[in-house]
Amino acid sequence: MEEFVFATNNPHKLHELRRLLDGRFRVLGLADIGCHDDIPEDADSFDGNALAKAQWVYSRYGYACAADDSGLCVDALGGAPGIHSARFAGAHGDSKANNARLLEMMAGKTDRKAAFHTAIALVGFADSPMFFHGSVQGSILEAPHGEGGFGYDPLFVPDGWDRTFAQASEDEKNAVSHRGRAVAALCKYLDSLNTSYPHQNK
Ligand code: IMP
Repeated sequence: MEEFVFATNNPHKLHELRRLLDGRFRVLGLADIGCHDDIPEDADSFDGNALAKAQWVYSRYGYACAADDSGLCVDALGGAPGIHSARFAGAHGDSKANNARLLEMMAGKTDRKAAFHTAIALVGFADSPMFFHGSVQGSILEAPHGEGGFGYDPLFVPDGWDRTFAQASEDEKNAVSHRGRAVAALCKYLDSLNTSYPHQNK
């Protein structure tokens, strides 16, 4: 079976991709290939960060690789936190502090429009890297609601919803989310391939 790496240590992301690809590809995580590197993510765009991760794995470990980068862009904040979403309040992945900072910066603002974006870069399947994107538009509440999800989910209500992502089931969120849409685009491409892919670099 053809295999490729999805550059993550997040078991939920791996599980979701494996489920969507329905056994057509063996999807390896970073731990599966013995990669415990602190992969730099210092590009100035979602595409750039995703590409840097995918190329890191492809060039050092020889596996075709997909990598994602996501974040929240708020209109009234000129697109912030954007690529800095994970460490908006300082420490990486401190969601409580990130949400508190976001609410602080949004205090008194009437324009609450925001969007989540995901970029996925795929390296090793074609002569040059490919990109897949997904976005979801919505708005930022004035206080958190819901216990599910992660990150900014308790503050984000997708357009057309009356609940936050943190109040939705995983399936409900995946059906409309930035990540769900980008992964669906990746899977559509992979499903369209014949079996002579991917090219391994080993
Ligand atoms: P990553 O690139 O998927 O690791 O996302 C970077 C950061 O963006 C996360 O640490 C979160 O702060 C934020 N983020 C990305 N996707 C979501 C989401 O679906 N819900 C809430 N926050 C998210």
